[in-house]
Amino acid sequence: MQDNATVVDHPLVQHKLTLMRKKQTSTADFRKLVREIGTLLAYEVMRDLPLTRISIETPLQAMESPVIEGKKLCLVSILRAGNGLLDGMLDLVPSARVAHVGLYRDPATLVAVEYYFKAPENLGERLLIVVDPMLATGNSAIAAVQRLKEAGAGEIKFVCLLAAPEGVKAFGEAHPDVPIFTAAIDDHLDDHGYIIPGLGDAGDRIFGTK
Ligand code: URA
Repeated sequence: MQDNATVVDHPLVQHKLTLMRKKQTSTADFRKLVREIGTLLAYEVMRDLPLTRISIETPLQAMESPVIEGKKLCLVSILRAGNGLLDGMLDLVPSARVAHVGLYRDPATLVAVEYYFKAPENLGERLLIVVDPMLATGNSAIAAVQRLKEAGAGEIKFVCLLAAPEGVKAFGEAHPDVPIFTAAIDDHLDDHGYIIPGLGDAGDRIFGTK
């Protein structure tokens, strides 16, 4: 584990990640698994959400009971693979706002280029949870978080399925204030920017485009 990264080592997460890594796993199963892991990672990344107490009545008596405090959540999907994790997180927090950031990797330079950005207002008053399954070079995640900060974002957390050590390091240097939550940190990046051993192209595997 590196300083800025938390590896979510819950057995359910690790088991599902192994199923996702297997090359035989079908598109339907992969999509279901990424959604399920999204829910489990959401549980972990939201562990320290502040609580407040409200007055309620059970069928037996009145009581003070905890609910999540006002700070509004905004989930941010880095298109397109982020949408797989997003769906699982929304299962847990259906009223969260959602932002989308569209970035593509220039295949020659691996640098992230923005083609879409849409976010709710008052980003500075929200906790932003940015999701992208693969933290590889880190270029897309770094650019997305930079863009969110330029749009006024304050507190940000980043969630991925798999990270490369190179990506964790680059992201931490660019955004030391943004903690990373991941199911695993793999060995290294190959010359094409793929995480090794990894799980292949997350977007292609979620959407069945290859
Ligand atoms: N993006 C992916 O989908 N897979 C990788 O291994 C690296 C980046």
